[in-house]
Amino acid sequence: MSLSKAPKAKNPAELDWSNLGFTYMNLPYRYRAYWRDGEWRDAGLTEDATITINEGSTSLHYGQEVFEGLKAYRCKDGSINLFRPDQNAQRMQNSCERLMMPKVPTEMFISALKSVVKANEEYIPPYGTGGTLYLRPYLIGVGGNIGVHPAEEYIFSIFAMPVGNYFKGGLTPTNFIASEYDRAAHKGTGASKVGGNYAASLFPGQLAHDAGFSDCIYLDPINHQKIEEVGSANFFGITKDGKFVTPKSPSILPSVTKFSLLYLAEHNFGMETEQGDIYIDQLDHFAEAGACGTAAVISPIGGFQYGDHFHVFYSKTEVGPVTRKLYDELTGIQFGDVKAPEGWIEKV
Ligand SMILES: *Cc1c(COP(=O)(O)O)cnc(C)c1O
Repeated sequence: MSLSKAPKAKNPAELDWSNLGFTYMNLPYRYRAYWRDGEWRDAGLTEDATITINEGSTSLHYGQEVFEGLKAYRCKDGSINLFRPDQNAQRMQNSCERLMMPKVPTEMFISALKSVVKANEEYIPPYGTGGTLYLRPYLIGVGGNIGVHPAEEYIFSIFAMPVGNYFKGGLTPTNFIASEYDRAAHKGTGASKVGGNYAASLFPGQLAHDAGFSDCIYLDPINHQKIEEVGSANFFGITKDGKFVTPKSPSILPSVTKFSLLYLAEHNFGMETEQGDIYIDQLDHFAEAGACGTAAVISPIGGFQYGDHFHVFYSKTEVGPVTRKLYDELTGIQFGDVKAPEGWIEKV
């Protein structure tokens, strides 16, 4: 008896580029490298979508797993952009430090990304469809290990799949609900992009979906008074006097999209910016709010349910003007239509 294998992805010619969801597709190639005896070995592309590992692997029992997520964008002139891949490399190195795993050097990380994009190039959605090629790098502890200590061997891999909007509707606002649960502890692994945080988020996420919300909003794990994460995206708000504000806390995942928006708000639009506390009893200060991340891009938050309150930020149906402006600037840069700040775009 064996479990089902994901079938090969459809031929690119048969894909409906404008209606891609966010679902796994078994593309022709993925990258793999193996850490043994203190170095990365046997690195390269493979057609095998499965991994065979020892049953005692730390990734299976103790969550010794880190991952990343970024996208390749098809530009108007046919070229291909990666958006700030050095930031993902750095963040994965930070996650590895927290989980005691060997780091993938930035150069190796970026050249591996490029090799996966090039090998699956025909699966990059055409410019203008809104689709992108999502890239998922990850690193797992493997080997007959079972004792609670870091593995001695590791696998680093990157696969790809064409994706559309993460939250249905794109720039249409959706509603979120405050969770009674925490995804990460105050000094836990919230700032690391690790599988364990996601395991902890599945149940609260399901409760939110069952209640008719897009996802849940996690509050600070100490007092449950401040907004932290929007499901698997960062939160931002635009105050009534035009300031761009995002929460600051050791249990928030440092989003590349969030830092990019902080920069663009300040430098391209001359807005004041702040990383600080966002108290749920002071939401009246905000004129607009949204979720941001690679998968979510920018998704406007329409309403926010906490306890008996239902707070509407800008509108339940329309995106606010500042959110739209930031979205256009960010996606313009990613698809190569707007001049990028120095070092943000890596051509494949
Ligand atoms: C990956 C992730 C984000 C978004 O980070 P980006 O670098 O913008 O993609 C936000 N929150 C969580 C919990 C994440 O895992």
